[in-house]
Amino acid sequence: MRTHQGDSVRTGLSRIIRVLAVAAVAAVLCAAVAGCGAAEGRAWGAQAGHLAAPSSTDTPVATRTQAASVSESATPFASRESSPATSASSAQPPVPAQPSFDATAYLGKTIESVKTDRREVAITFDDGPSPNTEKVLAILRANKAKATFFFVGERALGRQQAFARDAVAQGNEVGNHTWSHTRMKRVGPGALGYEIDRAQSVLTSATGSTPLFMRPRSGKIDAKALAAVQSRGLILVLWSIHPSDVNPSPSAKVIVRRATRGVHAGSIVLLHETNDNTVVALPGILSELRHRGLRPVTLSQLMAHGTP
Ligand SMILES: [Zn+2]
Repeated sequence: MRTHQGDSVRTGLSRIIRVLAVAAVAAVLCAAVAGCGAAEGRAWGAQAGHLAAPSSTDTPVATRTQAASVSESATPFASRESSPATSASSAQPPVPAQPSFDATAYLGKTIESVKTDRREVAITFDDGPSPNTEKVLAILRANKAKATFFFVGERALGRQQAFARDAVAQGNEVGNHTWSHTRMKRVGPGALGYEIDRAQSVLTSATGSTPLFMRPRSGKIDAKALAAVQSRGLILVLWSIHPSDVNPSPSAKVIVRRATRGVHAGSIVLLHETNDNTVVALPGILSELRHRGLRPVTLSQLMAHGTP
């Protein structure tokens, strides 16, 4: 009898434990799903708000709020990055870019330079935003020059989000340099889509301007990556002038010489804003271009005035 009662108590307790365990697992799953959904909602909400009020320079408070929103969303997205192929199916739809010119002729091509009668060139800066972005912007401003920044999506979060915003607010252009600076030839189709779309979303949110241009790391791309870029209506932009300003960095003087050697109307110059010597070289590069009557403009401006 005693034994039987003991068994009943044990059976009852084990049932309760099982029920509690199932409830706990369900609660954890619910929290995880709701958490992801809330984070996406915040990111899109912030983006929509920014697009509705693109004059970010005169709404610093709203911008700071938005920066916080994007920063918060960084954690769940960063955790997604560990399995981008599986998360790609639930990735946000890319925001369509709205070119300020007829971009039809440039879509589906790899652009290294532009044919133009105008004395214009495009200077492009890869790998930011970075602690050097504001210095580059100040030099461009002082020289009345415009440029295009190929930003890495995950670097345009937190404090550096403001650098990306300032670049566009100053009349420069923003391009997509992937979400995590990945080598596009080494990732599968799902991860490729994620790398492009996540960067589009974050850069649009940070700057209020949706990138129209895409540049893969090191300019290396294969057929599947090219297809992923083109299917999103992005223009693939490489370069015609590359002073090899990184790994290892030459002196600023050498960078000036290499960046301006052979430059002509329609050239696209690749520089890396992350390199201190490049920043030191920039005034010299702009001075030499001015000396030759070449005006640094954004890629959109260069393309609007020329042909592929
Ligand atoms: Zn790069």
